[in-house]
Amino acid sequence: MIKASQVAIHARLFSKNALSVVEKLNRQGYEAYIVGGCIRDLLLGKTPKDFDVATNARPEQVQAIFQRRCRLVGRRFRLAHIMFGRDIIEVATFRANHEVKHSEQQAKQNDDGMILRDNVYGTLEQDAERRDFTVNALYYSPKDNVIYDFYQGIDDLKAGKLRLIGDPVTRYQEDPVRMLRAIRFMAKLDMFLDKSSETPIVELAPLLKNIPPARLFDESLKLLQTGCGEKNYHLLRQYALFEQLFPALLPYFTEKGDSLAERMMIHSVKSTDERIADNLRINSAFLFAAFFWYPLREKVDTLKNEGGLNNHDAYALAGNEIMDVLCRALAVPRRHTGVIREIWMLQLQLAKRSGKFPERTMQHPKFRAAYDLLAMRAEIEGGESIELAKWWHEYQFSSTEQRIALIQEQNKNAPRPKKRYARKRSPKKD
Ligand code: ATP
Ligand code: MG
Repeated sequence: MIKASQVAIHARLFSKNALSVVEKLNRQGYEAYIVGGCIRDLLLGKTPKDFDVATNARPEQVQAIFQRRCRLVGRRFRLAHIMFGRDIIEVATFRANHEVKHSEQQAKQNDDGMILRDNVYGTLEQDAERRDFTVNALYYSPKDNVIYDFYQGIDDLKAGKLRLIGDPVTRYQEDPVRMLRAIRFMAKLDMFLDKSSETPIVELAPLLKNIPPARLFDESLKLLQTGCGEKNYHLLRQYALFEQLFPALLPYFTEKGDSLAERMMIHSVKSTDERIADNLRINSAFLFAAFFWYPLREKVDTLKNEGGLNNHDAYALAGNEIMDVLCRALAVPRRHTGVIREIWMLQLQLAKRSGKFPERTMQHPKFRAAYDLLAMRAEIEGGESIELAKWWHEYQFSSTEQRIALIQEQNKNAPRPKKRYARKRSPKKD
C-alpha cells in the first residue's frame, strides 16, 4: 500500500460518478475501490476510457443500494452497472481464484484448464490475484487516498513491463484471451512483455479455438479498430495469434509479409488508425471486406474457371463461402456481414462506367467504403484499377455536365455494353 500522492494520483483525477459509487458503498459499510485499467492509464498520464469499481458487496447488495440506477449483467462474470445518464460505472464483486477441490474444479474448467464460470467471491487480496497483469491489479481508495499494489504493478509500469500475475501457462490456460490482451496492452501502452509471460504464447495460441466466436469478435475490434491496429497486426502475426482470429488468411501469409492479401491487411489497418487519429468515423465492416478481398478474388477465379459461373454469381457464391469460414472463428454480427458483401459486390458495379450505372452506384449507401477499397486496390495491385480509381475520384467531385462528359469519354473508349447484351441474349436463342 502506498500513499497515492507519492505517484501524483489524487481523487480529482477520477470520474465524479465512480467516486460517488465508492463513497456510497463505503457509507453502507462495504469495502470499495476504483480498480484496473483506469489507474494504470492515469499513472501513464493517459485519459482512462472508463472507471471500474471493485467491492466486497455482492451484486444483489449493490442493487439494493443503487436500486433503479443499477442493472445486473453478465453470465460468466455477474456485474452491476450503475447508470448516470450515458455514463456507466461497472461494479464487480471481489472474486477468488479456484482453489477448490478437484471434483468441484472439474465443473468449472474444461479439459484445457479454461475457466467456464467465475462467480466465486473472495477478498481484496484474492481479487488482485485473479486479475491478469500486475499493472491491472491496482486499487485506489479515495477514502484514505492510498493505492494497493500487491504485485509491484507500479514498478512494472515504470519499467514498461507487462507481467502476468502467477504462473503464465496456467493463467493463459484459464483464459486464453489473456494472450490477446497481452498483445493489445503492448501496442496500446507501448510496453514489452516479460520473458516468462511471452514464451508460452506461440505454443498456447491454439487454445483460442475454445473461446466463443462472439468474444473473439469483440477482442478483434479492440485490437484492430481502436487506433493501434497496425502495431497489433504485426504483433499478432509475430506471436502466431493472427491465424487464430482469421484462420482463412493463413494460406496468404508469406515469409516477407508482402503478398497482395498481406499488403491489403497492412494498408487497411493503417488507414483505420489514421481515421481514428483524425476523429473520423470508422465502418467496422470495411476492414473485414479489405482483409478478405484478395482471397475472395482468388475464389471467384476458381469458380469461373472450374465451375463456369458468370462474374456476378461467382462473386456471390465466393462471398458466401468466405463469410462462412470467417464467421466460424469470429462471430461477425449480421449487420456487418451484409455490409461486407455490399462492399464486395460494389467492386463489380464500380467497373461499369456507362449510361446510368455510375450515378446509381454513387447513390448506394456504401459507395464511400467501396470506393475506398477500390483506391486501396489501386495502390496495391496497380494495373487497370489505377485508372478506374482515378476516374471515380474525378467523377465524384465533378459537376453534372462534367460527369456526362466523363461517361461519354468512357463510352468512346470502351464499348462494354454491347458485349454484355450479346452474351445475355445467347442462352435465350438456345
Ligand atoms: P482498457 O483500457 O482496454 O479498458 P482495462 O485494463 O480496463 O483496459 P478491461 O477489459 O476494461 O481492461 O478490464 C478491466 C480489468 O479487469 C482489467 O484491468 C483487469 O484487472 C481485469 N480483467 C479483464 N479481463 C481479464 C481477464 N481476461 N483475466 C483477468 N483479469 C481481467
Ligand atoms: Mg477498462
